[in-house]
Amino acid sequence: MEKVDVLICGSGSAGLCAATWLAKYGVRCKVLERRDGPMKMGQADGVQCRTVEIFESFGIGEELLREAYHVLEVNFWADNGTGAIERTGWTADTQPGLSHQPHVILNQARINGLLIDLMQKYNDQQIDYGYNVTNVKVDSTFAEDHDAYPVKVTAEKDGKTEIFAAKYALACDGAHSIVRKALGYKMIGDSSDAVWGVMDMVPRTDFPDIRKKSTIRSKSGNVLIIPREGDSDNLTRFYIELAPGTNPKEVTLNNLQAQAQSIFHPYKVEFVETIWWSAYAIGQRHADFFHKDHRVFLAGDACHTHSPKAGQGMNVSLQDGYNIGWKLGEVLTGLASPSLLETYVIERQKVAVDLINFDRYFSNLFSSGASTSPAEFQEGFIKSGKYTAGLTAKYEVSSITSSLESTNLASNVAVGMRMPSAQVVRFCDSKPLHLMKSLKSDGRWRIMAFVGDLTVPENHTKLNQLGEYLTVADGPIQTFTPEDQDIDSLIETILIGYGNRHGIELEQIPECFYPVSGKYQTRDLHKIYYDDESYNNGHGHAYEYLGIDAAQGALIIVRPDQYVSAIIGLSDYSEIGNFFAGFLQRQTYVAKDTKDTPK
Ligand SMILES: Cc1cc2nc3c(=O)[nH]c(=O)nc-3n(C[C@H](O)[C@H](O)[C@H](O)COP(=O)(O)OP(=O)(O)OC[C@H]3O[C@@H](n4cnc5c(N)ncnc54)[C@H](O)[C@@H]3O)c2cc1C
Repeated sequence: MEKVDVLICGSGSAGLCAATWLAKYGVRCKVLERRDGPMKMGQADGVQCRTVEIFESFGIGEELLREAYHVLEVNFWADNGTGAIERTGWTADTQPGLSHQPHVILNQARINGLLIDLMQKYNDQQIDYGYNVTNVKVDSTFAEDHDAYPVKVTAEKDGKTEIFAAKYALACDGAHSIVRKALGYKMIGDSSDAVWGVMDMVPRTDFPDIRKKSTIRSKSGNVLIIPREGDSDNLTRFYIELAPGTNPKEVTLNNLQAQAQSIFHPYKVEFVETIWWSAYAIGQRHADFFHKDHRVFLAGDACHTHSPKAGQGMNVSLQDGYNIGWKLGEVLTGLASPSLLETYVIERQKVAVDLINFDRYFSNLFSSGASTSPAEFQEGFIKSGKYTAGLTAKYEVSSITSSLESTNLASNVAVGMRMPSAQVVRFCDSKPLHLMKSLKSDGRWRIMAFVGDLTVPENHTKLNQLGEYLTVADGPIQTFTPEDQDIDSLIETILIGYGNRHGIELEQIPECFYPVSGKYQTRDLHKIYYDDESYNNGHGHAYEYLGIDAAQGALIIVRPDQYVSAIIGLSDYSEIGNFFAGFLQRQTYVAKDTKDTPK
C-alpha cells in the first residue's frame, strides 16, 4: 500500500491550489484525478481581484494578466417598456482603491494549467490521471497520532483497485463529491436547483456593448455577457437563466440561441461559431461538515455550490485550497502544531455560509424583473462589488488571527482580512512597487514594521528596541526558525519608513531588516521600503491609505496567505513572541557563522 503525506482527490481549482502550496513546501503529495488529462475547456472564467493577487503572490500574476480579458466597466441594460432593451447605466467593475489588481476573465483550463506548471516547477509534483476515487475511511483511533496514516483512500484505475494510506486527505472532487458521500456528509440548503445555459461563442451583432461585461434584463429573460480573452476573436460568453423546472438534459443549443436573440431585441445577434456550451442545474447548498477528525478536509464545490451569476465558484474553491495548502505545509514540515489545521474549518466554513447567503441575495436581485428598477438593480450590483472582488472574507479570532487589534493604529487594516496594498519605494534601488509584492506565497510570516520618520530620534529608538528584540537568541525569530534554515526563512521582517528616504543610511537600520540569507549568503536588502515620492510613478501615500499615523507607527503581523494576524503598537513588540508561541513549534536554530564570508 502506497503511503503519502497528503492525498488530494480531484485536480480542479481547489485541489490544484492546495497541491501547488504543498509542492512549494516540498511535501509528499498524491493527486488522483478521474479524467484522463487536464481540463481542456468550459466551466468558470471569472477571476476575482483577490485570486489575481494570489497568482501574483505565487509569481504567475503577469502571465494571467497578459492573457486575460480585463473587466473594467459593467453596463446595465433593461426593457424600456416597449419590449426593446436600452442601456440604463454603467459603473466601474471594481470600485477604485479596492485592490491594485483588476478583475479578469480567463478560461478555467488555462488557470488550472498555470497552477499545474507551477507545482511541477516547484517540486515536480504530478497528477495521477485516470484514477476514480471510490471510497475514503478514517481510523479515528489514530487521528491524534501525528505520525500515523489513518486515512485509507480507495481508487480504481483500468479496472484495478488500489488503496493509499495518507496522513491527510483533501476532498476536492467537485459538486458530486464521492469523498463527502463516503463520509456520510450531506449538502444542506435549497431543495430545488436553478437551471442555467452557458455558451462560449463568437457573436456577430450590432449590440454596442458586446466587449463590455453587461447585464440585460428583458421581458424575454436575462443575459449576463462576459467578453472573453483574445481581443481579435471577439470570443464571448453568455449566461442565460432558464425557466424553473427546465430539464437541463432537454436544453439544446438552438434553445439558448433563440432565447438570446429574443432578449437582445431590437439588436441582432448571430452565432458565427460556438466553442462550448452547456446547460446545468445548480443549488445553493453547503456541506453539513467540513472535516473528519481534522484528517480529511472538504474544499471547493465538494462543500459549497451556488449559481454562476457572481462568478464566485472557481475563486472560492481555489481560495479553499489556498487556505488548507500552506497550513498542511507548515504542519507536515514540523513548523507548526497540527492544531493549526482546525483554523481551516473555522475560516472556510464561514466563507461558504457567507457565499450561499450572498448568492441568494445576488440571484434574487438578478431575477427580480420589473419589481426592481434599473437604478435599484445598479445600486445592488455596485454594493456587491467588494464581495465579488473577493475582499470581504474576515476570519474569526483563532490561534493565527489574534484578538490584538488596535483600530486606532491602522484604521484601514483589519485583523482577519487580507492586508491592503499601496505603492511604496524600495530603499535599496528606489523602485516603486506595491507592498503586496513583498508578501509572496513562499510560506513566510511577516512582521511589517511601520516605524514612521526615522530622522525623528524617538522613532529611531523604538526601531532599535524592536530590532534587538527580533535579533536575540530567545526572541521569536530564532525560537521558531529551524537550525538548517536562513534566519528569514519562516518569519520575515519588513520595514516601511515614512518621509524622505535619503535622510537615513542603511547602517542606521537594525540588521534584522537586511539579514544574510539565500543561495549566496549575502545581505537581502529587499525588505526595506519607504512611503515616499518615486521618480516616475508618483507617491503611494501608503501610511494614509492604511490609516497609520506616522507619528505613532504600527506593527502588523501578516500570515503566509496575506491575511492580517495582529496589529500592535511599536512598543508592544513582546506580543509578537506570545503570538507565534500559540501555534509554532519550538526549534533549535543555530546562527550560521558568516564572519569569514565576504558580503
Ligand atoms: C458551466 C459552468 C460555469 C461556471 N462559471 C463560473 C465562473 O464564471 N466563475 C466561477 O468562479 N465559477 C464558475 N463555475 C464554477 C466552477 O467551475 C466551480 O465552482 C469550480 O470548478 C470548483 O472547483 P473544485 O476544484 O471544487 O471542483 P472542480 O473544478 O469541479 O474539480 C473537481 C475535480 O475532481 C475530479 N473528480 C470528481 N470526482 C472524482 C473522483 N471520484 N475521483 C477522482 N477525481 C474526481 C473531477 O474530474 C474534477 O477534475 C462554473 C461552473 C460551471 C459548471
